[in-house]
Amino acid sequence: MSDQELNWSCEINEVISAMRQAGIRRAAIFSDADRMVRATHPIFDDVARSIGSDRRDYQQHEALFLQVGDESQHLMLAAIHNTRRGQAAGGVRFWQYSDLESFMRDGLRLSQGMGRKCALADLWWGGGKGVIARNSGMDHRDPDLRKAVYQDFGRFMTDLNGCYITAEDVGTTPPDMEHIFSVTRFTTCIPPSLGGSGNPSILTARGVVEAMEAACRFRFDTGLKGRTVAMQGAGNVSRYMIQELLKRNIGRVLAVDVDEHSIAQTAQLCQDDRLELRHIQFSDQEIFSEQADIFAPNAVGGALKPRTIDQLSAPIVCGAANNPLEDPDRDAALLHERGILFVPDFLANRMGIVNCANEQYGYVDNDAVIESHLDHETDHGIYQRCLTIFNNAKTNDQSPMVEAQHLADKLMQETHPIWGHRGQQIIDGLLAEPWARRAGTG
Ligand code: NAD
Repeated sequence: MSDQELNWSCEINEVISAMRQAGIRRAAIFSDADRMVRATHPIFDDVARSIGSDRRDYQQHEALFLQVGDESQHLMLAAIHNTRRGQAAGGVRFWQYSDLESFMRDGLRLSQGMGRKCALADLWWGGGKGVIARNSGMDHRDPDLRKAVYQDFGRFMTDLNGCYITAEDVGTTPPDMEHIFSVTRFTTCIPPSLGGSGNPSILTARGVVEAMEAACRFRFDTGLKGRTVAMQGAGNVSRYMIQELLKRNIGRVLAVDVDEHSIAQTAQLCQDDRLELRHIQFSDQEIFSEQADIFAPNAVGGALKPRTIDQLSAPIVCGAANNPLEDPDRDAALLHERGILFVPDFLANRMGIVNCANEQYGYVDNDAVIESHLDHETDHGIYQRCLTIFNNAKTNDQSPMVEAQHLADKLMQETHPIWGHRGQQIIDGLLAEPWARRAGTG
């Protein structure tokens, strides 16, 4: 039987069976010396063409490595955007995907976002992201399945020779990180009991609040004191953001969540007359039109699109969610046209990666390196970087998103001061070996 050529719209299960039928468990899609996007195996040729002609999410990524886990039979992706500043860094997402396109697009977009985040934070790390597709026929909460999935992913990391260093992301938990760490050294964000940096949410929250401070300074020429915030999502980061905002004498916070459990946990941690928590249904859109100074997208990506941007009443949008804009270029332009100051996610929510990226250098109390991202003086800190980007956006009459992308893309051209562009050398070595064939058949 001839091998089935796959395309963007194939379901994940079809991809896994087509790979099995073709006798492969791995494939890579990469840019060759002539900048043509190619696949290591013909069944992915059409997918490579779709990626190469995509103008929205494909941005000359260095490589996309795909693998079906031996034990778990789950499809896994390591998306490597850029390794000039260092090995690609970024968490692994374990999520449900309807087709290959949405799976690959998540890797493409999120890895580029990580590259930009690291560059704006002056970290010597590149941009990458792991994605694992949940198998709809299996219970993804089953501890034995999770062990198999994450150990497969860890072995996948080992075989990538360190061009990508993984971490925690949506759908991945601390016990999952322990499973990864049990089979590879190429991970960060492991639990403190194993020498890791632990829950990054507290620092992420502080970082986003600093970005809010900068936005208020720029927009109102005052700090956060007395301001009002409308928050979508009352989860981990929101909880700590609320505490931080209350400490800074915020006037009022309204936080909504579709999950009663999240609301209850937040209510337990934060009790204050200035806080209102509301449990809502998915279809409830009222948070967008809530009268507030700042709208904080703190739930999932893609919340802001033409319909919801139209409803916004807050003059500032600043939150923790990655990729809050459904279509970054279109929606950033819409926000700008409406006179709403949008703080790009990869500028505001960097502290998660700052917290874990350099775990191997050990820990000190009141770490000056970490605190430099949160003070008001350091050039690469969140506050100063925000003000620089807002001022450039004002001068050039364009969205801060465009200015932030521009600055990040410039910084991403700098190569690591000691290791140069070693990530690309690792990738070239894997492709020459060739990685896809090594232990890849049968
Ligand atoms: P979380 O899962 O703890 O909280 C998200 C909350 O949003 C959940 O309680 C969920 O029920 C709620 N939610 C989902 N859809 C909603 C909707 N339509 N309306 C209202 N509520 C909704 O996640 P988190 O760790 O707090 O992260 C929040 C966001 O920040 C995520 O997008 C995450 O990727 C991003 N982020 C987190 C970190 C970190 O350190 N945790 C770092 C960088 C970025």
